[in-house]
Amino acid sequence: MSDLRDLYQEVILDHNRHPRNFGVLEGANRVAEGHNPLCGDRVSVYLQIEEDRIRGIAFRGSGCAISTASASLMTEALKGKTVEEARKLFHGFHDLVTTGGEDDPDRLGKLAVFSGVREFPIRVKCATLCWHTLRSALADGAVVATE
Ligand code: ZN
Repeated sequence: MSDLRDLYQEVILDHNRHPRNFGVLEGANRVAEGHNPLCGDRVSVYLQIEEDRIRGIAFRGSGCAISTASASLMTEALKGKTVEEARKLFHGFHDLVTTGGEDDPDRLGKLAVFSGVREFPIRVKCATLCWHTLRSALADGAVVATE
């Protein structure tokens, strides 16, 4: 179990140091911004949605290791997924870090590295910030002005 924890820690540190899909997304048609005042984390999530599928996703922001790694892993997990699949993953992830009540942890893949977060309630908001931001981008994200 402690080996697993070390591995999880490694993945989080790696994604914090080298965030994937970091920056403004060219061709994005949705964007939303999120802020976690408890920790000071800020994130912007960019989406390119075509025919109900996430063709492109990127994020930008600054925050603690958990919030950055979570956003990085989220973008990896969601690229190519349908909007419906993204909503399911949102709920799966939310359950994982709050109640741990995921019946099939494998379904979340690498996102399972955040399972330990639920032992630190103050960190839950860091891990879920990007997901809440994603959800508002999906629901009513501002349409990005194109030049
Ligand atoms: Zn944080």
